[in-house]
Amino acid sequence: MRALQEFHRRSLHDRDAFWTEQAKMVHWEKPFTKVLDYSRPPFAKWFVGGETNLCYNAVDRHLRDRAGQKALVWISTEVDREKSYTYREMHEEVQRAAAMMVALGVGKGDRVIIYMPNIPEAVFAILACARIGAVHSVVFGGFAAASLAARIDDAKPKLMVTADGGSRMGKVLPYKALVDESIRLARHPPAHVLIFRRGLDADMPVVAGRDVDWAGLAAKHAGAQVPCTWLEASEPSYILYTSGTTGKPKGVQRDVGGHAVAMAASMQHIYCGHAGETIFTTSDIGWAVGHSYIIYAPLIAGMTSILYEGVPVRPDAGVWWKIVQDYRVSVMFSAPTAIRVLKKHDLAWLKKYDLSSLRHLFLAGEPLDEPTHAWISQGLDKPVIDHYWQTETGWPILSAMPGVEPTPIKFGSPSFAVYGYDLKLLRETDASEAGPGEKAVVVIEPPLPPGCMTTIWGDDERFVKTYFSTFSKKQVYSTFDWGIRDKDGYYFILGRTDDVINVAGHRLGTREIEEAVNMHSNIAECAVVGVADALKGQMPLAFAVAKDASKLGSIEGRKAFEKEIMDTVDKQLGAIARPKAVHLVTLLPKTRSGKTLRRAIQALAEGRDPGDLTTIEDPGALEQLKAALAARSA
Ligand code: ATP
Ligand code: MG
Repeated sequence: MRALQEFHRRSLHDRDAFWTEQAKMVHWEKPFTKVLDYSRPPFAKWFVGGETNLCYNAVDRHLRDRAGQKALVWISTEVDREKSYTYREMHEEVQRAAAMMVALGVGKGDRVIIYMPNIPEAVFAILACARIGAVHSVVFGGFAAASLAARIDDAKPKLMVTADGGSRMGKVLPYKALVDESIRLARHPPAHVLIFRRGLDADMPVVAGRDVDWAGLAAKHAGAQVPCTWLEASEPSYILYTSGTTGKPKGVQRDVGGHAVAMAASMQHIYCGHAGETIFTTSDIGWAVGHSYIIYAPLIAGMTSILYEGVPVRPDAGVWWKIVQDYRVSVMFSAPTAIRVLKKHDLAWLKKYDLSSLRHLFLAGEPLDEPTHAWISQGLDKPVIDHYWQTETGWPILSAMPGVEPTPIKFGSPSFAVYGYDLKLLRETDASEAGPGEKAVVVIEPPLPPGCMTTIWGDDERFVKTYFSTFSKKQVYSTFDWGIRDKDGYYFILGRTDDVINVAGHRLGTREIEEAVNMHSNIAECAVVGVADALKGQMPLAFAVAKDASKLGSIEGRKAFEKEIMDTVDKQLGAIARPKAVHLVTLLPKTRSGKTLRRAIQALAEGRDPGDLTTIEDPGALEQLKAALAARSA
């Protein structure tokens, strides 16, 4: 691990030389004069004075060497279509989209809200914004009208771009109708709405004067040439709201130069993706993972990126592995929740295809439990790299870095602090550093590295107050996650700081108990929350999905299973962590990005209002939860 340690050390202690070297991976129209301006902590300005453009780096720069190579492959198992675009075609599409935006009055610094499904036009719109220096704010297509309206009022966009509809599990989602509703609710509506018609919603209403048809406008701008607007490195490139798992969403603002460098460097050092190779990131473009690893990093690196519209089990549970085989995918990036879905299906789906091109599978977004990590590693027979990051950082905080030096994987651990991150584990009580194996708050000693959020859109004060004010003694960036580091230096994330269960004075992380429940061989997945208890203050309550429910039809069968799970927890953590009850369900309430809505579960279990649930994947999960709770109390 010496090379890795030295790499990390240089990134912090020989900072200017290290990042100057990394910055060579991107094109600078005008060179920067200073690597870092940290005169106003905790605000960091990287690559001061340098001028560049994200779209130029992602598209134009590749025209010389790889114009005929595929840049984007769109695969939709929803509408059963595939379409590819070479870098030359991307260049044309993006320039045309840019010309359309300019024609609609969008200029440098203006905001454009993009509310679209995973279709190529969404990528064109995003890169078109980057090209002309407009600030894009992609809002995940699962958000309801009120959530979208709140984001409209925060960003005050000049233009919104949408499609008539999206599709999920074969069901049409009327995007445009929802945009109309959100604009009715908003106080700062856009002047225009640009609509890409897919033929999914024939009855789509049109507002004369405001709504503009993509195809009609595109026809007027065929062959358009729109030069890149050169931007100073720290000017804003985009706004992206956090998932909202823990309350009011925050508009994460990203810069241009630092972001470009972070993307290029991470593709090389972490993901090992090279020009000409193919990457498959299964995320939605509306999430940070989609922004960074479907669009910016792969294209900046000159790769072919697969944009997938669909779910992992339709038409069957082999669909992703078939894509890996057919497109010779070398880098794949997905989420633990998707793997847990696949785990419910036969391993034969994995074995059916030739996966020899695949080097690594990366997973992020939530804790990757040990059994799932082991299952997929054995199934693929390749390194499966759990890595940890946040919308705020835009790229990994903790990860293995096989591009620097391959290191052994420990199941359940996202390995080590990534270069650029001065990571610390601080005791909550006095901000002192925790020792090996001691649970503490994961923090980043500022300045944050290039590519991380530069502020909260329009609210510098909230940025400092939200992220840098956890400890009165020390101004550090709090991730709001618990972690430990073992004696070998491997980190483990134990859940969010507000996901703590206090059982008779013992503080237990939900993740620890979930891990223990998952140890039972017949558990596919579970969620544990703390519920108020008159005697102990709080007690854990578990909701579990069984892999095989055939023996659980009878009350006796369920009771025996529950007892086994409790015994498993007793053995792993001790009786103190034993759940009050284990409710069996077939579905857990999750956001559409796959995060368990623990807050909502907890509220329901305590008989409170679960609050805003607009990002829920399947409302049926809540019904099951309510039914399970009601059956128990009856
Ligand atoms: P909000 O901040 O609005 O509540 P969110 O935190 O869910 O939403 P994201 O930025 O998408 O939004 O998620 C980042 C969080 O996801 C991390 O802080 C951590 O809690 C969790 N997470 C991400 N990757 C991992 C991982 N590999 N292991 C454990 N937890 C992870
Ligand atoms: Mg968060």
